[in-house]
Amino acid sequence: MRRKAIEWAEIPLYLWSGVSFVDSHLHLDSRDVDELMGFAEATGTMLFACGIDRKTSEQVLSLRTKHPKTVRPFVGVHPSEALKGRDLRWFGPSLDKAAGAGEIGLDPTYSPTGERSAQREVLRRQLEVAQNRGKPVQVHSRNAEQECLEVLGTFNLGNVLMHWLEDEAALAHASERGYYVSFSPALLYSGRLQRMARRSDPDLVLAESDSPVSYGPLGGVHGPSLVPSVIYKLSELWGKPFDDTLAATASNAVRFIGSAGKG
Ligand SMILES: [Zn+2]
Repeated sequence: MRRKAIEWAEIPLYLWSGVSFVDSHLHLDSRDVDELMGFAEATGTMLFACGIDRKTSEQVLSLRTKHPKTVRPFVGVHPSEALKGRDLRWFGPSLDKAAGAGEIGLDPTYSPTGERSAQREVLRRQLEVAQNRGKPVQVHSRNAEQECLEVLGTFNLGNVLMHWLEDEAALAHASERGYYVSFSPALLYSGRLQRMARRSDPDLVLAESDSPVSYGPLGGVHGPSLVPSVIYKLSELWGKPFDDTLAATASNAVRFIGSAGKG
C-alpha cells in the first residue's frame, strides 16, 4: 500500500510504519520521565509536552534542550494554578522559546471561572500574548467548554487544540472554527468519546496520552505508549486503515504546531 507522505522531514520516523506517532498532549514532570523519554526516542514518538505553571514550563523547555528531536514544549498556567499564577511576566519570554502556549484554559473544579475571576484573567492574558506571537495554543476546557469557546472567540488566534474535549455541542462549534481536538486513551472505553470521534473531522483530530493521567479501565497504564491504541480505535471508528489514520493524525499534529514544531 502507498503511504501518505509526511510533510515534515524532521519528524522522527516510526520504525515499522514509516510514519510517526505524536502524543499531542502530555506532562513530563512525573517520576518516570526518563522511562517515558526512552520509550518515545526508541519508537520515534514526538511529544507535545505542556507545563502547568512557571516551574513545569521551564522543565519542558529544558527537556527540549536535552531531547531536541522528541520534545516540543508548550508553556503556560493551567486553570488549577491560576490563583497562584497571576504574575505572568515570565510567560512571554518563555513562550518565545516554546512551540506554543499550554496547558491553559478554564475549569470550575479548581476555582471560579466567571467574568472577573483569576482564571479568566490568566487565560485572557496568556491568549493575548499567544495571539501577538502567532503561537498555537492547547486548551483545557473541562466543564467550561462553552465559556472557553466564548473567550477564544474574542481573539484572533493561530491554531487551537481543544485537548480531551468531552462536550458534544462544543465539538460542533470547535470544528466550525477549525479548532483541532485530541482524543485521550479514554476513547477506548467511553461511548460518548467514541460518538464524538465518529462525528469529528478527520483533518482536525490528534491523539494524546495526557500522561501522567492513568486509565483505570486500561489497568492504570499511562504514557505515550497508549497513543497507538488511540489511533487504532480512531481507525476502527472511521473505518479507515490503521496506516492512513496514523498518517492523518501525524499530519494534523504537524499542521497544528506549524513552523514552531521545527525545533
Ligand atoms: Zn494535561
